[in-house]
Amino acid sequence: MKWVKDRSGRFAKRPHYLPDELDAKCEATIDAFLKERYGAATFPISTDDLTILLEQNVDSLDLYAEPTDLGVDVEGVTDFYSSRKPTVKINKRLIEDSRFENRLRTTLTHELGHVLLHGFMFEGAVKSRSLFDVEEKAESNQCKRSAILTTSEGFACGAYLMPLAALTRAVQQFIHKSGFHGHQISLHTGAGTSLIDDVVTEFSVSRDAARVRLLQRGFLTEKPEIKGLF
Ligand SMILES: [Zn+2]
Repeated sequence: MKWVKDRSGRFAKRPHYLPDELDAKCEATIDAFLKERYGAATFPISTDDLTILLEQNVDSLDLYAEPTDLGVDVEGVTDFYSSRKPTVKINKRLIEDSRFENRLRTTLTHELGHVLLHGFMFEGAVKSRSLFDVEEKAESNQCKRSAILTTSEGFACGAYLMPLAALTRAVQQFIHKSGFHGHQISLHTGAGTSLIDDVVTEFSVSRDAARVRLLQRGFLTEKPEIKGLF
């Protein structure tokens, strides 16, 4: 982890995790949680378990937040406070409509990323309480659909749902099963599509989430397949 300038101006610096650090932290969280509950980490992690894991780390979790209270296109909100654990609100549309199951799973893990990766910055941040003891909200993160997968919390969300060791095993199984020969699987080939299919099934994620994660970790490449050069 390194410290970078905080663009919000609230802190002098904020932590910036490298991908390997994020992967290690996220994997440790999921491993510990699943082993504690079931004695072993198996995938996919259920949506109920994701909810329980998030609940364990926050002051309150509201799964039925009114979309109109959250703002246009906002799927989840994490609020940090000076004197208690954060609160998380999830747009109720995600839980009420089963077609949004994958979006619910990515939003839950995205907010978990906010809570576990940045929460420590707010612990005891404000030492003097105000005159009327009104609790101060230290920071609010409104997470829009477009940012759920692409931010650093988006990286974390992929790392919680598809921890690196388990993902690596899934890719190795795919290579073994498909007899793939080559340096790297191209996104734009049948093999690329089949690998995404396997990851979608194994980890119960959307095709988008699987593709982004496989590209980020270099298991897939955007480059076209090179054929017939030699
Ligand atoms: Zn966010």
